[in-house]
Amino acid sequence: MQDQDFPGSDDWAIETIGVRAGTARTGFGEHAEAMFLTSSYVFGSAAEAADRFSGRVEGNVYSRFTNPTVAMFEQRLAALEGAEAALATASGMSAILTCCMGVLKAGDHLVASTGLFGSTNQLFSNILGRFGISTTYVSPSDPAAWQAALRPETRLFYVETPSNPMMELADIAALAAVSKAAGVLLVVDNCFCTPALQQPLALGADVVIHSATKYIDGQGRVLGGAIVGSKAFIKDQMLPFLRTAGPTLSPFNAWVLLKGLETLSIRMERQSANALAVARWLEAQPQVARVIYPGLESHPQFALAQRQQRLGGAVLSFELKGATPEEQRANAWRVIDSTRLVSITANLGDTRTTITHPATTTHGRVSPEVRAAAGITEGLIRFAVGLEHPDDLCRDLARGLAG
Ligand SMILES: *Cc1c(COP(=O)(O)O)cnc(C)c1O
Repeated sequence: MQDQDFPGSDDWAIETIGVRAGTARTGFGEHAEAMFLTSSYVFGSAAEAADRFSGRVEGNVYSRFTNPTVAMFEQRLAALEGAEAALATASGMSAILTCCMGVLKAGDHLVASTGLFGSTNQLFSNILGRFGISTTYVSPSDPAAWQAALRPETRLFYVETPSNPMMELADIAALAAVSKAAGVLLVVDNCFCTPALQQPLALGADVVIHSATKYIDGQGRVLGGAIVGSKAFIKDQMLPFLRTAGPTLSPFNAWVLLKGLETLSIRMERQSANALAVARWLEAQPQVARVIYPGLESHPQFALAQRQQRLGGAVLSFELKGATPEEQRANAWRVIDSTRLVSITANLGDTRTTITHPATTTHGRVSPEVRAAAGITEGLIRFAVGLEHPDDLCRDLARGLAG
């Protein structure tokens, strides 16, 4: 099997890469990607088996290590990120775990941005912490704080941009300057933007992490994840952990995600346009105290967003007015409960718009002080915009705003 659908060239546009890269055909000449539901592979002889097991000859051995459908997904995603290689995992969290287990050891230190995805925060503080790995959290928007947090044992910088739910941006190029000077690995969780909107490796990051469960699938069907980076990093530091510990992506999920990548660019464009339309409408509503969206001129890092991202992305947050926290919460819950179209759920990255009250759900277990420091007030609502018409979304929100 080889990449027959993508004649070698490095100047294809992202839309073309998403549809074509990584396709490998069997002798049957199938047009769509084949789904290889097999756990193991047969060898022509004992000698061939020995060569494959030892790595002397490349080829599939067992699907915990490699699988042709999974490999197609890895190659297409790597091409989209402008990377040499990618390694698919069973979920976004297992991608982050694999990255940490492949790089860190007891006594090491990592620096991570505040406002991380909740489970990432738990993984760093509670689980890696039990194995003697410590984490310092600093603001994504302050490169000097990352410099100041460096220790001799610091191995890794971990950042999400934009952050969730406050839509705070990290200047990837500025962080890369700090990490490169210190000899530290810069890892960017590119889940919110995807390569359709932002390519961290081109800005100096070393590694990209994906929860493919979100926009890469884009239709809320399967879990998946990936680590993207140089060939040497993937082969020497990531693959040994994956093939031994087994947080492997199933070929079925890889096939679904391959189909997701084909429509990724067009979905991210339309969902960003829809989010911008809703954000502009919300800014004009008297009951709304502020709207936080990187595509709005009012965003404090609008210039950085314009430079670093092709578009603003599909997630926005907005804050309702209220004289007291209790009143703010009542107003936010009324808006959420008055919707008839959008889904009340904490997930995002779907073609269907979702609405969330972070203070009492995703960030409900965070202490009120930490929540306040992060700006997650009782009046805050996160809105992850899908493919419905933006006018319908605004009408759905208007009902609860009117009171
Ligand atoms: C959802 C998410 C993850 C975890 O991904 P799963 O596929 O749910 O394991 C990691 N990072 C971010 C930013 C996410 O939104």
